[in-house]
Amino acid sequence: MDIKKVGVVGAGTMGNGIAHVFARGGYNVVLCDVEQRFLERGIATITKNLDREVAKNKVTADDKAAALRRIQPVTDRSKLAECDFVIEAATEKFEIKTEIFRDLDRLTRPEIILASNTSSISITRLAAQTKRPEKVIGMHFFNPVPVVKLVEVIRGLATSPETFTTVRELAVKLEKTPVEVNDAPGFVSNRVLMPLLNEAMYAVMEGVATAEAVDEVFKLGMAHPMGPLTLADFIGLDVCLDIMRVLQSGLGDPKYRPCPLLIKMVDAGWLGRKTGRGFYTY
Ligand code: NAD
Repeated sequence: MDIKKVGVVGAGTMGNGIAHVFARGGYNVVLCDVEQRFLERGIATITKNLDREVAKNKVTADDKAAALRRIQPVTDRSKLAECDFVIEAATEKFEIKTEIFRDLDRLTRPEIILASNTSSISITRLAAQTKRPEKVIGMHFFNPVPVVKLVEVIRGLATSPETFTTVRELAVKLEKTPVEVNDAPGFVSNRVLMPLLNEAMYAVMEGVATAEAVDEVFKLGMAHPMGPLTLADFIGLDVCLDIMRVLQSGLGDPKYRPCPLLIKMVDAGWLGRKTGRGFYTY
């Protein structure tokens, strides 16, 4: 099917980035969130990020204006009914995503693909909420979406080969590099990354080294662009904890136990960069 109009559910960190790359790629975008102020914040971020691309000569001022014109912000989810493809990038909670997938299944044409940008929730379980499990897939972008090339394309148990091919090609059209992954807790990226961040937190908690020292080891010794604790603050400590809990419950191995310091910091509301305090102060 020819995809022209794309629905994006959630206008937060990832949703606004996803809307940005689709609009820049020439697609019309219906961007949906629960409150007007979240949409305004999302559009402000897209505008700022497009300005940055104009300053770097990656897009022209005309391209920027055209991309912004292609985005229709809505709080009324029924506006997604005319979309040819919908990607969900709402809060990482199973109950929230379940409700969204059931509703999208009811609202949209039965032949269209429903994707999720989830970091860790089972695509197979989300697909089972719908009457079209063969058309449900994971399309996992990375933050910041306009910059990072990788997209994990995740097959649920029921995802059809046609759905997979369409989404892989869609990623290429957005100038991204798709990597094929099967559905499993945390997929590849978070299955491998989160235990690393969690272990770095244990090292800090046990007084093995300061956060600065741990980060320095990874930057200088392993050529990581940022250390694991800086990265955890950037991702959001609440998001890290949610993902560790998905790994813990999905894989059942005690090695996925969330670090008690992480739990304590989330309880304190120290969620990293977004709240001004995490392993560092901002
Ligand atoms: P966020 O908190 O920045 O944004 C989530 C948005 O979803 C909010 O604006 C919220 O109002 C909205 N929302 C909540 N319920 C909704 C509903 N019922 N309908 C419409 N909108 C709703 O979160 P985020 O970091 O953008 O994460 C979104 C998704 O992307 C999650 O599944 C997360 O796991 C995944 N993800 C995040 C990252 C990251 O680095 N932050 C990277 C890859 C994937």
